[in-house]
Amino acid sequence: MRYRRIVAKFGTSLLTAGSDRLDLEAMSRLVGQVVRLRQAGCQVAVVSSGAQAAGRHRLRGRAATMRALSRQAIASVGQSHLMQSWDELFDWHDTVVAQVLLTRRDLSDRLAYLNARNTLRDLLDAGTVPIINENDAVALDEVLATRIGENDSLSAYVANLVDADLLVILTDVAGLYDADPRTNPGAQLIRRVERIDARIEALGGGAHGPGTGGMATKLRAAHIATQAGVDVVICSGREPEALIAAARGETTGTYFPAPGDRLESRKRWILGNITRGGWITVDAGAAEALRARGRSLLPAGVAAVSGSFQRGDSVEVRDLEGNRVAAGLVNYSSEELERIRGVRSDRIAEVLGYSYGEEVVHRDNLVLL
Ligand code: GLU
Repeated sequence: MRYRRIVAKFGTSLLTAGSDRLDLEAMSRLVGQVVRLRQAGCQVAVVSSGAQAAGRHRLRGRAATMRALSRQAIASVGQSHLMQSWDELFDWHDTVVAQVLLTRRDLSDRLAYLNARNTLRDLLDAGTVPIINENDAVALDEVLATRIGENDSLSAYVANLVDADLLVILTDVAGLYDADPRTNPGAQLIRRVERIDARIEALGGGAHGPGTGGMATKLRAAHIATQAGVDVVICSGREPEALIAAARGETTGTYFPAPGDRLESRKRWILGNITRGGWITVDAGAAEALRARGRSLLPAGVAAVSGSFQRGDSVEVRDLEGNRVAAGLVNYSSEELERIRGVRSDRIAEVLGYSYGEEVVHRDNLVLL
């Protein structure tokens, strides 16, 4: 496969196959593709809509209950049904799934963001398939700021969160057209979009179908993800091999290559945001492991902590002579690091009472200087 870490977003109309309930056959075709990607060595996170549709269907024939429930509450009913369906379908393939429900707040709050990122990465590294949806029960409509509201944007944020190589937005249309294909039979599919400019955005049009998102939210998502260095595909999930084709770099839908190299844009971000608050000094062994062997920085190699920084900051790493070795996003604050420096990673939880992972800086988040 051309891509290794993939976020696949399944919209409501795809999961219901246009009906008023979850369509297990449609879902199982998607499951089959995710499982094949896993077997080919890919990591796949799924962003799944369909909770509200499943909830409404689950409550059919109970008009009074349905009337008494808000959309958020209906989504709660549906979410458990949705997860149960995913769980069973993946279990046929001996694949373990995990439910992760996020809100806008979880993505804007630094700590929640880091926790979500670590959890998702752990789940992916352990070979499970995280299945993500917005936490509709707490993301209230009335408090607009806490709600993302549609899963296209959520999928872009998740792709960014897990450092995906590829975001595939599977929907019920073949991709982005140069005119509305429902009203204009001559509409042509656009195969490749280098830049999402005003002209492309204008092709988005309004929302349609049972899900919340139309092409406009998909384009917004594609914009967010490509800016973060993630390639994006918008394609029809009804094509039997759509997800696999996208992962091979052979989509029949619309392809949005990210400008520049993902690592490059990430590196630029880390380098451009180095905190002035403090730095980490590492011993000779750790400096060598970072420089020559591309390893993560572990607490055992930390000789001293200077100044103050927060978890998630981009922090400079220096050797014992004061030479700059690297910069990277730290999993621990300066205070925490002061307590765990020199400590073996398996003892972090013992010392702190909790652990954010074995690494002080994961190698994915590290740039050599
Ligand atoms: N969170 C919503 C659900 O599961 C989906 C939002 C969307 O359609 O994008 O029903």
